[in-house]
Amino acid sequence: MKIYNTLSQKKELFKPLHGKRVGLYTCGPTVYNYAHIGNLRTYIFEDILERALEYDGYSVKRVMNITDVGHLTSDADSGEDKLERGAEREKKTVWDVAKFYTDAFFADLKSLNIEKPKITAPATKFVPEQIKIIKKLFECGFAYETSSAVYFDTSKFKKYTKLSRQKLSEKRTASREAVVEDSEKRNPSDFALWFKLVGKFKNHTMQWKSPWGTGFPGWHIECSAISTKFLGQPFDIHTGGIDHIPVHHTNEIAQSEGAFGKPLAKYWMHGEFLVIDQARMGKSAGNFLTLKTLEEKGFNPMHYRYLVLTAHYRSPLNFTWESLEAAKNAYERLKEQIATAVAVKSKEPAGKFTEVFLKKFNAAINDDLNAPVALAALHEFLSVCAVHSVSGVSARETIKKADSVLGLELLKQDKIPANIIRLARERELYRGSKQFVQADYLRKQIESLGYKVSDTPSGPVVRRT
Ligand code: AMP
Ligand code: ZN
Repeated sequence: MKIYNTLSQKKELFKPLHGKRVGLYTCGPTVYNYAHIGNLRTYIFEDILERALEYDGYSVKRVMNITDVGHLTSDADSGEDKLERGAEREKKTVWDVAKFYTDAFFADLKSLNIEKPKITAPATKFVPEQIKIIKKLFECGFAYETSSAVYFDTSKFKKYTKLSRQKLSEKRTASREAVVEDSEKRNPSDFALWFKLVGKFKNHTMQWKSPWGTGFPGWHIECSAISTKFLGQPFDIHTGGIDHIPVHHTNEIAQSEGAFGKPLAKYWMHGEFLVIDQARMGKSAGNFLTLKTLEEKGFNPMHYRYLVLTAHYRSPLNFTWESLEAAKNAYERLKEQIATAVAVKSKEPAGKFTEVFLKKFNAAINDDLNAPVALAALHEFLSVCAVHSVSGVSARETIKKADSVLGLELLKQDKIPANIIRLARERELYRGSKQFVQADYLRKQIESLGYKVSDTPSGPVVRRT
């Protein structure tokens, strides 16, 4: 498999560090609000990555942190803790807010058929591990203490901007705003490892004892601690959205490589943004849509998953209701074609058609997860199935393979209620005895109940409209 590595800025052949076992770390959500469909685009990309690796025969250990403390309203260490702000907004405790949105996040993953990572780790459960790394950073000369925080001294870490390839001078400007908040900070790009309960954080609810006084960890240190604990260092692949390149992942690299003197991860993969009206969809930007909003408008989560797969993960995807509508239609039609294809009773071996398809499909997936090309190959295969009599059994097996990567629930049949089945059977009897007026009447009745009958060469197929 070839994957694009942000670190080398090239597509590289994927060579795991430990035979067939792959360690995969994906940064998780900050649980102070619902995940928006932009966040979910990134989790779909990571899900396709995990599924593609499994399809290629690797056994994947995937770890995801859950940020439930320390992520401030600006990524550059200024502002308030997002969780504390969520608690104020909802008049709940921070712990209740974290639990509620973590559960909501897992529910979204389930609806979108995203495999839940083997290990999900809330930052607040791993504070001692984070303190241990900070101590190590002091020993190695990378950390220093001020009266309000502990910082990582970025001037001591030689290749600090190797992931983003930014000039340090650009980074300084970007984080200038944050600098003003602590005059004892040595360099503008230094970032917090630990916040003390002083100044604006005097009443911070989440707090732990540490060698530098009671306080709470900075945002980035949780990923260094959690990834090392479960995957060791280096591990194979680290992923996230592109916004993580210049700040969060840059800082994770500095902390982990500073503390342990070896690379954090071999490959870094980043998903492009979902944009809306040409602006990045963001939780704080207020332009965000959730999965629930889409469902309320009559879409099901698979329509959104399909839409996401029509764009390569490294291209921005502009969300419009029209494009979601188009994705819905394409998806429903695809499922109809599949229902027809798997019902074909032919005994003819599928032979070259499935082989040709799987070759194209595998090539697309192994070419840096090219889902749009893989989807196009699937559409082509179904057109072939409609013309040639590919046996239903082999069509099903082939689609099952493809869907183990796409995760579109292509073989899942909607449960059709008994009364609809009865009406469809009755209609069949009328059609059989050429009583077309009655048959047509029943078809309309079925449609008025929200279902549709399509007559296919292998018999009628009933689906929800
Ligand atoms: P957060 O909950 O803000 O920490 O973000 C969770 C994940 O969503 C991270 O991997 C982000 O990089 C990613 N992300 C944030 N905004 C977008 C967006 N508009 N489109 C795609 N991914 C995003
Ligand atoms: Zn992270």
